[in-house]
Amino acid sequence: KPRDKKDVMELIKAHDVMFVKLWFTDVLGQLKSFTIHVDELEVAFEEGMGFDGSSIQGFARIDESDMVAIPDPTTFIILPWRPKEKTVARMFCDIYEPDGSPYKGDPRYVLKKALEKMQEMGFTNFFVGPELEFFYFKSPNNPEILDQGGYFDYSLDAAEDLRRDTILALEAMGIRVEYSHHEVAPSQHEIDLRYANALDMADIVMTYKVTVKEIAQKYGVYATFMPKPIFGVNGSGMHTHQSLFIGDKNAFFDPQDPYHLSDIAKQYTAGILNHIREITLVLNQWVNSYKRLVPGYEAPVYICWARRNRSALIRVPMYKPGKEKATRIELRSPDPGCNPYLAFAAMLWAGLKGIQNKYTLPDPVELDVYHLTPEERKKLGIKELPGSLYEAIEEAEKGTVLREVLGEHIYNQLITNKKLEWDDYRIRVFEYEIEKYLPVL
Ligand code: GLU
Ligand code: MG
Ligand code: MG
Repeated sequence: KPRDKKDVMELIKAHDVMFVKLWFTDVLGQLKSFTIHVDELEVAFEEGMGFDGSSIQGFARIDESDMVAIPDPTTFIILPWRPKEKTVARMFCDIYEPDGSPYKGDPRYVLKKALEKMQEMGFTNFFVGPELEFFYFKSPNNPEILDQGGYFDYSLDAAEDLRRDTILALEAMGIRVEYSHHEVAPSQHEIDLRYANALDMADIVMTYKVTVKEIAQKYGVYATFMPKPIFGVNGSGMHTHQSLFIGDKNAFFDPQDPYHLSDIAKQYTAGILNHIREITLVLNQWVNSYKRLVPGYEAPVYICWARRNRSALIRVPMYKPGKEKATRIELRSPDPGCNPYLAFAAMLWAGLKGIQNKYTLPDPVELDVYHLTPEERKKLGIKELPGSLYEAIEEAEKGTVLREVLGEHIYNQLITNKKLEWDDYRIRVFEYEIEKYLPVL
């Protein structure tokens, strides 16, 4: 991994790089990219490259549209699917105002600010391990599946080579893959990344999504991270394993505790449970996200934690019980349609609030919560995640956490954008209504 621009320049010479793609994301997590010739790189590092921010979703207004992108040399990677000669590399950028101050609308900046707050509280690292699930379809126009495989299936799996090439490409970029398999739904897959600190991981998630899509395209198929493309089968989640470290000590680990969770871990978990309804707008940001968060498909609906139970919102994996480094919590609600910078920032912020205010963690719920009656849930004090984008917007507005973590600029942009999306959806007439009402009314 290069440390500075000198290292980058050496890699460029050694690998015959001719083009450098400069990457960043808009507020909704869409990857934005422009390409410069290597000869421009010196200028890019020194002064940054200008672009029109008013054309980027959630960025500047038209009257304050000049933005500057400055590449982060530590993110330099050669794109393995491009030709080997006169090849192509990419770097992520931080976005600045023309006066040199960091741009408040840049999602990478939001995550950096959240990590600063964490450091002020005495922690050194926020480690995350996301598990992105996705589907392969024959085309982007309709969800036609490639296979009838299910969880861990081998002979029914049509995507062995697709996954293999994707993993080889990721490894060629220095992105470590821990394991991969066919997922529960037909044509659904998962490739799990080795954990990393949150800023690196947000960059990696963006790269991972591009890689999965690029390799799919090479095989003439389409890969999608849409949260719930097919009614009646599992949707795609982005479960996120997380822990806080102080130096190389895992602050979540306590060997004395039956769950091996420290007080810090419990307060952090309580923070997420307490504020999950407010931050869901960022973890599940599309109308379609809420079609996944329904009972019966291994996606969470009820706000509780557990050790084993996969219907819980937060799980404490115990595959390697008591191993300090592996002690972590797994938040199961995020979906891969999120903006990873904002999602990691929001979960961290909610967890840190739990630590700051010493929240108490309720008892775990080791029952299948899908099958409890509403009365039983009420007795146990178990609340639900927002049931729609509309409810998530309302919760975000009632709370303070999203405003704090995102800052005014992104918070306002997001709320405005999401209200428009909801209205756009709300006024349409769907096939469901035609089938259900037309014959009888
Ligand atoms: N696909 C499920 C979800 O929507 C998760 C399945 C699993 O446990 O990996 O979150
Ligand atoms: Mg999975
Ligand atoms: Mg998982």
